[in-house]
Amino acid sequence: MKISRFFISTQKDDPADADVRSQALMLRAGMIKKHAAGLYSYLPLGLRSIRKVEAIVREEMNRAGAIELLMPVVQPAELWQETGRLDQFGPELLRIKDRHDRDFVIQPTSEEVVTDLVRSEVRSWRQLPLNFYHIQTKFRDERRPRFGVMRAREFTMKDAYSFDRDFEAAQISYRVMFDAYVRIFQRFGFEFRAVAADSGAIGGSLSHEFHVIADTGEDAIAYCEGSDFAANIEKAEALPLIAARAAPTQTLQKTPTPGAAKCEDVATLLGIPLQQTLKSVVLAVDGDKPGQAATIVLLLVRGDHAVNEVKVSKLAGLASTRMATEAEIVATFGTPPGYLGPIGTVHPVRVIADRTVANMSDFVVGANAVDFHYTGVNWGRDLPEPEVADIRNVQAGDPSPDGKGVLSICRGIEVGHVFYLGTKYSAAMGATFLDDKGKSQTLEMGCYGIGITRILGACIEQNHDAKGMIWPDAIAPFTAVICPIGYDRSEAVRQAADALYAELIAAGVDVALDDRGERPGVMLGDWELIGVPHRMVISDRGLAAGTVEYQHRRESAPTVLPLAEASAQLQ
Ligand code: ATP
Ligand code: MG
Ligand code: MG
Ligand code: MG
Repeated sequence: MKISRFFISTQKDDPADADVRSQALMLRAGMIKKHAAGLYSYLPLGLRSIRKVEAIVREEMNRAGAIELLMPVVQPAELWQETGRLDQFGPELLRIKDRHDRDFVIQPTSEEVVTDLVRSEVRSWRQLPLNFYHIQTKFRDERRPRFGVMRAREFTMKDAYSFDRDFEAAQISYRVMFDAYVRIFQRFGFEFRAVAADSGAIGGSLSHEFHVIADTGEDAIAYCEGSDFAANIEKAEALPLIAARAAPTQTLQKTPTPGAAKCEDVATLLGIPLQQTLKSVVLAVDGDKPGQAATIVLLLVRGDHAVNEVKVSKLAGLASTRMATEAEIVATFGTPPGYLGPIGTVHPVRVIADRTVANMSDFVVGANAVDFHYTGVNWGRDLPEPEVADIRNVQAGDPSPDGKGVLSICRGIEVGHVFYLGTKYSAAMGATFLDDKGKSQTLEMGCYGIGITRILGACIEQNHDAKGMIWPDAIAPFTAVICPIGYDRSEAVRQAADALYAELIAAGVDVALDDRGERPGVMLGDWELIGVPHRMVISDRGLAAGTVEYQHRRESAPTVLPLAEASAQLQ
């Protein structure tokens, strides 16, 4: 790009009303222009970075098997009525009427529309799994739009939606997206962390946020160096300890072999006081191979929050040891089926009964394993409150709820979010398919967002200095810039700069040539502010000695190179 034919509009001083550095720098560098609270134009320079962010996200989504489409920004309110979100969403949802007085919303996300699409287009299990995504404008009437593009009202999001035949398959889709997100944020060169999160207005039961670590982040994250515990503090009411773990990758074959054991037997065998057992739920009995001693996983559950996990091997003497080939929950206690999916290193657990039970005495666990029946004790009365991982008020140095070390606290900017939704939307909207036996089943869903435009702000928060932004190569508005000193005056400088530029363009380098003829101080200051990572200065003085000056944006002084090496240095 020749800058004389591009549009650059930099300002010398910070704008008065910027809340954070990224916002001030983006405005000063002319990457964005503010029109009203939370409403921005992305100027040509900013749009170049946005397109690069989109390209990487698109590449990794496609690689992960997601399929791109485009859904409308304006959506019929009836669809939102079907799921109840028209009422639930509150004032963040922008509602409008058309000329016929019909109600519409401007999409803050697209669960309703994608579910409407899939319920009419997908018929058979053979079409599954499916994951549709789009990169599209969103509108949220944020209570306090601020921090520039990080909390705008109109912004760009990549949102993906997975559809699966059953819980196991949905967990795999979730895991595939989780891994794709890790790759995406690695490619941006971010220091980031995946943390357990509340699922908020989107709904669903399992979710992780991806946070760029930055002091200006709006969210506080508690994490444990000694384990994989990490959770968003401000969102966390009582997070399941298991949620910060990686989702499972293995699935088990279904070979139901009913077995039965008494609650008391298990309690005795495991050495757990009966009282304790009463407020716990055995979720899975599982082993790798038939005949192998089973591993039993106990999740202590209260309400819909798992609060502890005990793994015990060697269940010799119980019927369950014979059924070591699979693990299934037939019911969950006080929590929607599906919630208890990923349980860390243990095999995934499949919910085969679509019901929750109200009483411990009704509780039956593991089609292939242990039947838990308890009578005589009134569940829930006179029992001590079980512990929950309530980390809202934790301090650095407090013990980690998983008992594996102490907590550290840092601040983060949420740039991505993955949710396992279960059948929340598909059930409400009647999105079903015919399974391999011809039976109608409700689709299992997940949804996965990345804040495309927020990523720019988050990146700058992590990468800037007193002079301006410092872009990673992957998403810099230009990867390299040629800064000729005296382009308008010196024939030698102009020729050398043009030749280098032509060579780099031919080699496919995303290079800018600053041919504006600006004074050196202004020109170099502009590119330091804009934060292009690689810069080559060409001057008469250098050319007389056959040299140019290369400087990476993170370096404090240039390196003098032979002119002949200039092109190779930038490729
Ligand atoms: P936040 O907690 O910051 O309000 P959110 O949890 O409401 O975000 P999600 O519904 O999870 O956001 O949307 C997915 C992604 O969209 C977020 O992880 C974030 O990167 C981005 N995003 C959400 N709200 C905004 C906004 N107002 N401006 C820019 N990006 C946003
Ligand atoms: Mg929000
Ligand atoms: Mg959030
Ligand atoms: Mg979120």
